[in-house]
Amino acid sequence: MRNKFRVVIITGVPGVGKTTVISKLAEIAVGKGIKLKVVNFGTAMLNYAIKEGIVEDRDELRKLPLRKQLELQSLAARSIINDADDLGENDYLIIDTHALVKTVAGYWPGLPRHVIDELKPDMIAIIEADPEVIVKRQERDTARYRKDMGGASGVAKLMEYARAASFASATYYASTVAIIENEEGKAEEAAQKLLGLMLNL
Ligand code: ATP
Ligand code: AMP
Ligand code: MG
Repeated sequence: MRNKFRVVIITGVPGVGKTTVISKLAEIAVGKGIKLKVVNFGTAMLNYAIKEGIVEDRDELRKLPLRKQLELQSLAARSIINDADDLGENDYLIIDTHALVKTVAGYWPGLPRHVIDELKPDMIAIIEADPEVIVKRQERDTARYRKDMGGASGVAKLMEYARAASFASATYYASTVAIIENEEGKAEEAAQKLLGLMLNL
């Protein structure tokens, strides 16, 4: 039911701060001598999509035809696990991803059974914050396109559905679900809380 290393999947709506919290987590872990490997699921999908010349940036992936997104999702899950074979029993694989993706064809699970069969997560963490605060973060971060999340009401809905999706994904391999608040200016505190839970896996 498990990989030899601990697998922690980090989810949360676009702009909540997953990537930010994970980089703090990586810094803290180095200081404590804990070996983490951080991978971004979207980047793995993007690498395959760029090879095919079908997108130019990561925020275009969710606009691809669903059959294509499914193929990329499957390739990404397999490559992430294949590339983690250098990790040992006391190490952690941290996967930056989404439990639910708002696609052009509807809400779509980021962690359906075929993905979970590869990743076998010990934990699915959900990074959350106030929807109004998330929208401000989205607006400040001009490097990314997140206007399709529908403002604070769209984000609030997506958070509700994404919680349900995370719990559904957790049932396949008995993963724990951790909800972590990423308050404004407190990404490091969020990372500390996450690490505290991870150490008990
Ligand atoms: P995506 O799913 O689109 O990749 P994400 O969840 O990884 O989004 P980030 O890119 O980490 O989100 O963060 C979005 C923006 O919010 C960034 O500009 C980041 O600096 C900012 N941010 C993240 N966490 C905090 C925080 N605790 N306080 C203030 N700003 C934050
Ligand atoms: P991110 O940088 O985390 O926002 O990821 C970029 C994009 O990759 C997302 O907007 C999705 O289109 C896609 N993506 C990431 N993780 C998954 C997943 N588990 N399943 C399907 N698509 C994903
Ligand atoms: Mg990110």
